[in-house]
Amino acid sequence: MTEPTLRTPTERTCERCGRVERWDGVETTWTVVEEDGEKQVGSRYCIHEWDINGTFAPFEDEGADGAQV
Ligand SMILES: [Zn+2]
Repeated sequence: MTEPTLRTPTERTCERCGRVERWDGVETTWTVVEEDGEKQVGSRYCIHEWDINGTFAPFEDEGADGAQV
C-alpha cells in the first residue's frame, strides 16, 4: 500500500525527552539530529511524543506565510 503524495514533516521533536530527529529521504528513516557534536537522543526509555501532529500540514497552505505572488 502506498501513501498518497503529501507533504511530510522533515523534523520532529519529542515533547517528553527532547529527542530531535530528522527525516532522511535517502535512507527513508528518521535519524537523530546532532547538535554541537552531541546527538539529541533524549531518553532511550521514553515513549516519544512527537510534536509534528500540531504543525504538520498535509497540503501546501498557499498564502499563509504572506508569500503570495
Ligand atoms: Zn521522547
